[in-house]
This record gives sequence, C-alpha cells and structure tokens, in this order.
Amino acid sequence: MKPRVRQITLEEWEVRYAELKAAGLEEPFYGGPLGRHVRDGDLRLPNLRFDPSRQALRLWNFLLTEEERLYAARERGWTIVGTMKDLGTIPVMAYSLPKTLAFYPDGAWWIPCVMELSAGLLEAADALGVGESFCPVRAMLGAFLQDAHFPNPDLLTCSVGAVCDDFSAVAQRLNGLGFPVLWWEIPYRRKPDPGEEEVDLPGGLRAPRSQVEFVRGELERVGEHLEEVSGEALTPARLAAGIRGANLVRRTMGEIRRMVFTAPVCPLPALELLIAEMIVIHFCSDREEAAAVLSDLEGLVRERVEKGAGILPEGAVRLFWVNPVADLRVMNLMEECGARLCGTDFLFPHGLDPIDETLPPLEALARAALADPMVGPGRERAERIAREARNLGAEAVLVSRIPGASHCAREGEVIARVVEENPGLPVAEIEVPPLADALLPAIRNRLEALVEAVLQRRRN
Ligand code: SF4
Repeated sequence: MKPRVRQITLEEWEVRYAELKAAGLEEPFYGGPLGRHVRDGDLRLPNLRFDPSRQALRLWNFLLTEEERLYAARERGWTIVGTMKDLGTIPVMAYSLPKTLAFYPDGAWWIPCVMELSAGLLEAADALGVGESFCPVRAMLGAFLQDAHFPNPDLLTCSVGAVCDDFSAVAQRLNGLGFPVLWWEIPYRRKPDPGEEEVDLPGGLRAPRSQVEFVRGELERVGEHLEEVSGEALTPARLAAGIRGANLVRRTMGEIRRMVFTAPVCPLPALELLIAEMIVIHFCSDREEAAAVLSDLEGLVRERVEKGAGILPEGAVRLFWVNPVADLRVMNLMEECGARLCGTDFLFPHGLDPIDETLPPLEALARAALADPMVGPGRERAERIAREARNLGAEAVLVSRIPGASHCAREGEVIARVVEENPGLPVAEIEVPPLADALLPAIRNRLEALVEAVLQRRRN
C-alpha cells in the first residue's frame, strides 16, 4: 500500500501548524500560520485544499508575503522595478544589479480571486472603461490606483509589439493615468526566409538572427534605464551571474516538474505546482530565498517519489494543462475529479527554460524573450504542447480559457487540431473566471467527462 498524502483545509492547517510548532518547527522570517493571511484579506484560502507539508507551508507563506517584502525593500532604499508582460526576461536583468529587485504588477491578475473580489480592482478597471471584454489583467489598473498592493516602482517596463491586445490596452491606459512606462518592443517571431541566417531559441524554436539582434538592442536600451535608476553598472559579468542565479531556480523547477509529471504516483498537488512555477518567473521579490524555497520543495517531492507517496492513487488520469486558471480552486477540482498534472503550459514555458550560459548574456536573454509562446504563431505553441504531452505520456489536454483574453477565442481550436492529430489525445476546454463558484458544477462536469473519456480509451 503506497502512502497517501491527504490535502487539508485551512482549518486543518491551523491544527497542523500548532503540532509542527510544538515539534520544533523552525521557519524563515516570513513564516507563520496560513490563517493570518485571511485576516489580511486573502479570503479565497478557506476554500482551497493544501498540501500538508512543512515545505508547502513555506511556499505559501513566501508567496503571500511578497507585498511585505516589496514595502520592506522600499524602506531599505532598494530599487524596485515593475516589469510587465515579458514573463521571465527583464527580472533576470534587474536581479543582476545590487540592491535591485523586480516584480510583476501583472500578478494583480490573481488578486480578484485571492481576495474574493473584495479589493474592488475589477470595478476600478470598469470605471476606467476597461471592462469585462478584457482579461483579468485589467485588475492591475485598480491595483496601481489603490496604491495598496505594491509600492509604486522606480521604473516600470512593458514589452509591446507582438503581445496580446488586452495587455497593450491596459498598460497604455496605465501610462495615460500618470504611471510612465518604459516600452520595449518584442517583434512577432517569424520563420526565417529561405537563405536567411537563423538561430536556435529555447524550447526547440528557431528565429532569424536579425530578430534576435533587434531584441538584444531593445534589452540593451532597457539595461541603460536600469543602470540609471539603480545607479549601478549592468556589466556583462553581472548579467552572466544573474543568468546563472536564474538558471539555478529554473533547473530546480525543471527537476520538480520532471518528477511531478512522470512519477507513477503524483507527489505534489497541482495548486502547489502552479504556485512554484509562478515564483520562477520573478522570484517573488527575493531570488535567493526563491531558490531556497524551491530547493526545499524539490527535496519533499524527491522523498515522496522514493516512497511512492502521493496525492492520488496510481492510475489517476494524466492531464496536460494549458493556461493558468483565474480561480485557483479549479486546480483542486481537477484532483477531486480523479486527474493529475502531467505537463503544463501556463503561458510562460520560456520563463522556465534554462537560459544559454555559453552566449553573450544579452543575446541569451534576447533568445529567451523571443521563445515566448505568445509572441509567435499559435501553431508553434500547440506543437510544443503536443510534443511535451507525447513525451510525458499525457492522456488528455485541458485548455483553460481565460475570460476576455484575446488569444483564447481561437487558440483552443488550434491546440485541439494539433494535439488530436498527434499524439491523438482528447482535448477539452473550460472557462474559468476569477471566482468560479457558480460555474464549478459545470466545470466539474467537463472535467469528469474528460476523465471518463480517458478511462474509456484505456478499456478499449
Ligand atoms: S490576455 Fe492572456 S496573455 Fe494577455 S494578459 Fe491576459 S492572460 Fe496574459
């Protein structure tokens, strides 16, 4: 009999926390019982189920204390860079500088869920004319205006060009409201013309060298602004060290993902896996601590894999999950329906791929930025999903649509066409709003139908 890991409620965590403390639990400076975050307004937590480990407690506490770290950094006089949209590139540059950190205001995407709409961010966006036809990233507008969720950054960057309409519109509105944005352009990644010089990108992609050169020039320009605002030189040696630091975190995450997706018994819940991936793209405002948190988590996952311990019995349906869910509760729901994660594309696989350490640093970062699945043809994204689903032994692909997101109107169709052809897996789509309570029965039906379809295929 394999040991089962039972996910627990917030209430149960309170009891478990007291037991762990009594047994001598030592915590980092941001530690404490999870329940205190509810008193700070994170009202969604009582509706979630959590991994019961000390390592998961640390992961959650690290995530939920980012705001405090940002304000503490402001108090210490550190340079704070708000990086928007690129998901994984500019933070690597910012963290290469001493006493400088970066965060994603885009993270406000999840505030309506985590605070169960109590912060009024979506209403604030509505009042600015950015309504429901935009994706939840519009919450960012309210977060800036309320000046209560993160300090106003010393520098605000945003990639434009081949990015979604939603983000461009929201960031332009922000700029117009008096939050000046340093724009840098990411071009639409195209196939090299016949005879044109081309280069490899992470994720098995290729692009014309001229596009890499263009992005490198844009990053150089961002680098000059980073130097100006921080008063420090962004030397190639510092950038190279920054890339090594980022890669340390990415490789640890790569190992966690490998074990979670391939172990016979799934060793980590989907919710904690999603959070861990999110931490990788910006280090949650402390790169060294992010590395330590994930290394601790990796140890837990390894131990469980060795013992055959996990959250669902062996044989759970293996799902490849596409896009992040606006309501975190849905990750729990997937497991309640008898499925486990076996691959993910939460919109930022390029932020998880290790950056090439053998190239000049800015070129390596330019290649990483151009590997963003959202700046190239949808078919290339679908092909990577299909390839990984095949390699990881996924049995179905679930595309989670984001309400209002411009790319979500057609991408499910493209992904389904590619995945159903090869590796020939069933594909289902759901749509998850920031608070999905009213839709949970319908989402459950969709997930159960997909699980049943896989079980039927196994029987045939
Ligand atoms: S539309 Fe999609 S890619 Fe654009 S901000 Fe929203 S979730 Fe991100």
